[in-house]
Amino acid sequence: MTDTYLWPPPPVPSLPVRGVVQRLPVNRLFFVGRNYAAHAREMGFAVDKAGETPFYFTKSPQALTPSGAHVPYPPGTHNYHHEMELVVVIGRPGFQVSVEEAPALIYGYACGLDMTRRDLQFAARDKGRPWDLGKDAEHAAVVSEVMPMPGQVLASGAIELAVNGQVRQRADLSQLVWSVPELIADLSRFYHLAAGDLLFTGTPEGVGPVVAGDVLSGRVAGLGEIALTIGPAT
Ligand code: MN
Repeated sequence: MTDTYLWPPPPVPSLPVRGVVQRLPVNRLFFVGRNYAAHAREMGFAVDKAGETPFYFTKSPQALTPSGAHVPYPPGTHNYHHEMELVVVIGRPGFQVSVEEAPALIYGYACGLDMTRRDLQFAARDKGRPWDLGKDAEHAAVVSEVMPMPGQVLASGAIELAVNGQVRQRADLSQLVWSVPELIADLSRFYHLAAGDLLFTGTPEGVGPVVAGDVLSGRVAGLGEIALTIGPAT
């Protein structure tokens, strides 16, 4: 036991990194909403890049879940959805950076799943309430091994998710409404970005429900794979 804390502090959320012995300590989890036009449409919205800026939500770092995990179907929902996403890993601090400066903050990338209690998200949205119950479910921020690509901008490449081997989401990173540098620059207007911050860049169309027993497998070109198995509610 410790002399400093009343009880042992929770473990540091962290991720494995390809080719690196040390684990990457994770700081905050940021998520972009509606960053593929076709997904915005399936949610009932049009995206007007000229007239809007991106919007964000967050999840608690304790929601971070490693690829390959078996997780229980979460409480409070009857419509738990998959959202396959490219995750940007921030490796250097930055505040109010320009689009041109933004790539220097990039440590690398990973595959991510922004798991969502869609029924709770919609109920909150329709009442003008926060999305937290819909988005910040336990085990709802699934991230793969990190691929170190310091300073590199991923601007194209296939992104795909299958459930039980059947493809549900398939798109290309070139369809991102706001690019990776644009997102980093915009988010840095509101936060002092720090090493270990993760930015989920939004999901393409084809989101849908999962049920207990489903096996999810996703990939982003050049970044390897992500997997998740949904178990019964506990
Ligand atoms: Mn999402």
